[in-house]
Amino acid sequence: MTDPRDHLLSWLRDVHAAEEQAIKMLSSFARRIENYPELKARIEQHVTETQRQSERVRECLRRHGSDASTLKDTGTKLMGLGQGLSGIFTSDEIIKGVLASYTFEQMEIASYKILVAAARRLGDAETARVCEEILQEELAMAGWLESRFGELTGKFFDLEADESVTAKH
Ligand code: MG
Ligand code: FE
Repeated sequence: MTDPRDHLLSWLRDVHAAEEQAIKMLSSFARRIENYPELKARIEQHVTETQRQSERVRECLRRHGSDASTLKDTGTKLMGLGQGLSGIFTSDEIIKGVLASYTFEQMEIASYKILVAAARRLGDAETARVCEEILQEELAMAGWLESRFGELTGKFFDLEADESVTAKH
């Protein structure tokens, strides 16, 4: 039987890898956005939050005498999702990017909910508290995106129809 603590540490490493992936993915997405300043600003804000999240998860690992060094392998596992954003140069890249970002947030939300439950069960109150706080930021980001689906889609069609606008993202 695997020590339950090892599961907690491995899930923390997985989520750390996801955060590192998110930093790259969201930064490159934000850089490409030209016509959606509100979306760009919210994503940039979440990049800053994500950098802090990554540090905080690393601190949780450190408290257990562990580190995030084995994250190379788990990082590649999550690449599939990340690629939803990295190679997009299609005319609807803004919609594809929003979809991929939202999907990524949902994955993070589930991950942190599981981590809160695991940390509580193992009596690691500090990790539970940290993961609960990060969870709130992920919920806020997902909620923000979700509340703008209609507006963003409408603007996307407006820009598509406007022949004077060359960059549609
Ligand atoms: Mg995150
Ligand atoms: Fe996030």
